[in-house]
Amino acid sequence: MRISVIGCGYLGAVHAAAMADLGHEVIAVDVDAAKVDALAQGKPPFFEPGLPEILSSSLASGRLRFTTDISEVAGASLHFIAVGTPQSENSGAADLRFVHAVIDALIPHLGSADVIVGKSTVPVGTAEALSHRLLAAGSSATLAWNPEFLREGFAIKDTLSPDRLVFGFGEGPGALQARSALRDVYSQAIASGTPVVETDLATAELVKTAANAFLATKISFINAMSEIAEVTGANVTELADAIGYDARIGRKFLNAGVGFGGGCLPKDIRAFSARAQELGLGSSVAFLDEVDAINLRQRERVIARVIADAGGDAAGLRVAVLGLAFKPHSDDVRDSPALDVAQGLLAAGADVVAYDPQAHGPALLRLPKLNLADTLEQVLVGADIAVLVTEWPEFVALDPRVAGDLMAHKRIVDARNVLDADTWRAAGFHYSSLGRP
Ligand code: NAD
Repeated sequence: MRISVIGCGYLGAVHAAAMADLGHEVIAVDVDAAKVDALAQGKPPFFEPGLPEILSSSLASGRLRFTTDISEVAGASLHFIAVGTPQSENSGAADLRFVHAVIDALIPHLGSADVIVGKSTVPVGTAEALSHRLLAAGSSATLAWNPEFLREGFAIKDTLSPDRLVFGFGEGPGALQARSALRDVYSQAIASGTPVVETDLATAELVKTAANAFLATKISFINAMSEIAEVTGANVTELADAIGYDARIGRKFLNAGVGFGGGCLPKDIRAFSARAQELGLGSSVAFLDEVDAINLRQRERVIARVIADAGGDAAGLRVAVLGLAFKPHSDDVRDSPALDVAQGLLAAGADVVAYDPQAHGPALLRLPKLNLADTLEQVLVGADIAVLVTEWPEFVALDPRVAGDLMAHKRIVDARNVLDADTWRAAGFHYSSLGRP
């Protein structure tokens, strides 16, 4: 099929490359010329495992092109919208201006039988409003919604073999055609058994918001338990193991630690809360405000713990911060707990040096004063205390004897609860984590 993908960020660049890999002819559009240039040369402007390979092979096949010129979408009949929907500057609501701009820019280039497919995460009701916008502009193109569930770090696999596909359709005459276009474009995943949920536009939008709200709630739930465990002497990891054996609960997303971040969960729960208030339903999801508050509190807890474990005075304290990305296998520092911890320690007067295997560039854009080390060993040299804030495999595998030889004092705060406490203590470390004695 001939398709376009508009917006080439963490979602759109992967989607474009993966669709070309599946055999579709893809024109990918972004307003950021530097991003388009880099992608056109096969060099992703962000880190995503496997993306360079699939990008190069798709470009070489001639099935994938990048452009800043929206008029080039004219040859395609299916248009995926993958632009950002960040948090508004003045409130928790989603800023939809990029989505609106894309619809307006697309309209002059749409054929009457074209299908627009929203993939961006949007507040419920957005798709219906966009359909009206199309109609008002005299376009007979059809709008469908196909929310994206990819996880950064696993984005290629999640795009090529999703665990489910959700298609939302409106009531207009184009719905059948949109359904057939979506079934064609994802025919390989569907043939290999991926479940498909076909529904209305509002449900498709809500599925994504609800999924992220649920995941965020699960993480904040276990972090709330870790606060209780800490005061009562209980062990939150053993608690999570025990409740996780209950199939109704499940063990995934029950790791206590510094909490969630990134370009999705935090802004999506805030946008959900803001949208519910607009609908007069604020109390229905008021718990999400508490989920957010618990999550942000973890960052403060970790900062306070580092200072307390090092003797109570942050001034001049040499802190090694292990990790800056919001999660391993990504360079994304949007709303990153790790970056907030580094910033908080800096603000408290500590001498912070950080190391992340991938996120130095994006971190410096947000925190230009941050000192960075080139290697894991280097960040530890002379440190009074280390804090593990992103669970990169190389940090989890760190040998405490090696770390101990490099550091000025053997102290570590494991803010992801991923290190073996006994091993670290046996190597002479003052080891602490969240919610574990
Ligand atoms: P991003 O900021 O990395 O990318 C957005 C891109 O859109 C940018 O490259 C920007 O230049 C481009 N853009 C903005 N306005 C444009 C326009 N008018 N025309 C063309 N391009 C334009 O964001 P992202 O992480 O890729 O997220 C995009 C959407 O996907 C968001 O709604 C997000 O919530 C959702 N989502 C993201 C993920 C993820 O893991 N990143 C997963 C699922 C859903």
